[in-house]
Amino acid sequence: MTQRVLVRDTLKLVNQIVRLSGWVHARRDHGKLVFIDLRDRSGIVQIVGGDVLKDLRIEDVVDVSGLVKDRPANLQNPKIETGKVEVEARKVTVLSHSKELPFPIDTDGYEIDEEIRSKYRYLDIRRPRMAKNLRLRSKVVAYIRNFLLDRDFVEVETPILTKTTPEGARDFIVPSRLKKGKFYALPQSPQQYKQLLMVAGLERYFQIARCFRDEDPRKDRAYGEFTQLDLEMSFVTQNDILTLTEELFTRLVKDLFPDKHMTQTPWPRFSHNQVRQKYGTDKPDLRKDKNDVQELAFSWTIDFPLFAEQSKEDFYYGSGQAKFAPSHHMFTAPHPDDIPLLDKDPLKVRGLQHDLVLNGFEVGGGSIRIHQREVQDKVFDLIGFTKEQKKQFEHMLTAFTYGVPPHGGIAPGVDRILMAILGEPSVREVMAFPTSASGQTSVMDAPSVVEPQQLKELHLKVVESNKKEK
Ligand code: ASP
Repeated sequence: MTQRVLVRDTLKLVNQIVRLSGWVHARRDHGKLVFIDLRDRSGIVQIVGGDVLKDLRIEDVVDVSGLVKDRPANLQNPKIETGKVEVEARKVTVLSHSKELPFPIDTDGYEIDEEIRSKYRYLDIRRPRMAKNLRLRSKVVAYIRNFLLDRDFVEVETPILTKTTPEGARDFIVPSRLKKGKFYALPQSPQQYKQLLMVAGLERYFQIARCFRDEDPRKDRAYGEFTQLDLEMSFVTQNDILTLTEELFTRLVKDLFPDKHMTQTPWPRFSHNQVRQKYGTDKPDLRKDKNDVQELAFSWTIDFPLFAEQSKEDFYYGSGQAKFAPSHHMFTAPHPDDIPLLDKDPLKVRGLQHDLVLNGFEVGGGSIRIHQREVQDKVFDLIGFTKEQKKQFEHMLTAFTYGVPPHGGIAPGVDRILMAILGEPSVREVMAFPTSASGQTSVMDAPSVVEPQQLKELHLKVVESNKKEK
């Protein structure tokens, strides 16, 4: 059999017999002549033929051998890349038939119910907009990786089965079979591991990290899991972190999204106070023209207060008795000038936190970290940690006794940044298999019940909610 060629290569193969493989994207029956649009990963090409094409249905997978021909000028189709040619079918083999699809895939798809798109996500991804978003996402991640590797960063994978790493959300917990009554937590971020890697002397770490947070979905946040570019550096100032991040995304936008333009460079930096006074929010949308889909307004917000008053929702911190909750997370360093205020007036202490804002969305956050055991201990006290809770983080306090470099980092959200750059209405539009707003996974029916035997092995019992718990 002749070698398969891609649809886009037909342009270079005029007057040659080629073999193409792909899906029947569209079909037009003109009686004696049938036209189909054949789609593969590289695009679409028109196939023309008679009886050989008669029985084909939309989305059948076929193998077509035929002669590539120039189209006369008046029949060219400028809307597709291969519009100057067509393929005269000689032999067609159906590799598999398709049923009628549950929804059209030749539109952008926003009009279709999201639950149905999600149930048949493998069809939804055939939609050119979705396929394009996933390809761009892959390019963005590769770009980030190359940029950081060139600058002496080390990519490290950290565990998914781990202990609680609070980032202000509820944990997902996983029961242990081997240790009865004990649980792992899925990481809300690799925060503690990346700090431990600084103690370990790597100095420059990054990871395209999956994070798990059991929080209510919003359009700029997926339910359950999301991906962030997690990075950490030793012996740096806050300015070093901001500068590196700014250079990375400025270059990335220029190279991968040349049609986009930035409202302002260098990106403006505001103190938390300033930005609240001026815009009434800590994530201002600074675009000059909010209807301009090509405009990207990045900015920084810094000088946050280290603590906020603790509210009832801060149940995951401390004993619930303390007055203070970290505004970022409990590893953020206080501004060195404000350390004396930790005892006197904690709410006045500034934290070395930085938030990255794009078109009104918070797309990343980070900080310089505490690297002194005593200061970390004091912050644990202020957020009301009990002795027991402190014990959960003893490994950090212990690590900090063995020579720890000053360090800090940031974690820009990959889904969120891509959503904002592409002007998509939700992060789910840039994720392959997102969990729906109601917590249902794409395609696969999770969460689902498990076999009684599995529960038994895990030493778990499900208590019916209408029965009284003992
Ligand atoms: N761990 C933080 C987060 O997920 C980011 C950081 O402080 O680097 O938001």
